[in-house]
Amino acid sequence: MNYIDLRSDTVTHPTPEMREAMANAQVGDDVYHDDPTVNQLEADAAAMFGKEAAVFVTSGTQGNLCALLAHCQRGESAIIGDTSHIFRYEQGGMAQLGGILPHTVPVQDDATLRLSDLEAAINPDDEHKPVTRLVALENTHNSAGGIPVSADYTRLVAQFARRNGLILHIDGARIFNAAAAFGLDAKSLVDGADSLSFCLSKGLCAPAGSVLVGERDFIRRARRARKALGGSMRQAGVLAAAGLLALHTMRDRLIDDHENAQLLAEGLSEIPGIAINSQHTNFVFFSLSAAVDMTLDEFVGALRQEYNIYMSPYAGEQGQVRLRTHYWIDREAINKIIAAVNAVLT
Ligand SMILES: *Cc1c(COP(=O)(O)O)cnc(C)c1O
Repeated sequence: MNYIDLRSDTVTHPTPEMREAMANAQVGDDVYHDDPTVNQLEADAAAMFGKEAAVFVTSGTQGNLCALLAHCQRGESAIIGDTSHIFRYEQGGMAQLGGILPHTVPVQDDATLRLSDLEAAINPDDEHKPVTRLVALENTHNSAGGIPVSADYTRLVAQFARRNGLILHIDGARIFNAAAAFGLDAKSLVDGADSLSFCLSKGLCAPAGSVLVGERDFIRRARRARKALGGSMRQAGVLAAAGLLALHTMRDRLIDDHENAQLLAEGLSEIPGIAINSQHTNFVFFSLSAAVDMTLDEFVGALRQEYNIYMSPYAGEQGQVRLRTHYWIDREAINKIIAAVNAVLT
């Protein structure tokens, strides 16, 4: 590629091996459970997380929505972080399509939800109140800057959920980035959770698709929800073939993306005019200092026009640029980015 795209890890193209596997994939009609490649992907994902079953869905948004629709009845409430992806970036699908009431609690700086806040969010058995059914965590936490959430904390929330008769869902779009950051098996990050949704796209490079895992009966209901949402695909093995490579060959290299993000943050931090705000896993956030005689849009525009380097001003916080490293950004690209930013600012 003759450009460097740091806007997100969603921009990753499939690898040459993925394209080849897609071309050669065995397929069948997945609505009849006849696609061997989809069946393999679902079986492998379930086994990897020690759950009974899994379902291949079109996107992370659909994975979360299928989970919520399968876990909750209309009129019930789900406790979610106030900056969670489910609350902020999924168009309120849970409420719009599921009649499920989001009950938000503040996401702390370390990307956790306080147990005392969770406790206070559980409605008493009172006919004025919706029944509280579920709590959801996010790992890594997108809006918190890619912070990974620990296995110990997740276990605490799982125990809390069990004590209170709540279901625990994990939006693990980037769960393998969290696993890489802690040097842990991803399974230990979902200990005690009832369901997990994770993305095969993003850092794992598959062109599309997410997987939702959980108990067999839950997955049966989630498959029904997927159908109602228009997400049941036919010869989806062409996508699952890339997903299998994502699942089996792309996880171990995510640590390279984290190292590159760290090198990028270190290199940028030495440039006058740049203030690094945070760096976690494959995310870097920075601002331009007041001394810089350029708007963010001018800065981003100059990098794009003069160097084919794509960054996007972050919509969530005024005045920040968000960078995400991924498979298509290697060490050489990191050096080019630092040199280009230096040139644009001096
Ligand atoms: C990307 C993401 C999703 C799902 O996004 P899609 O674009 O629908 O695949 C869900 N949760 C988090 C935390 C994400 O980062």
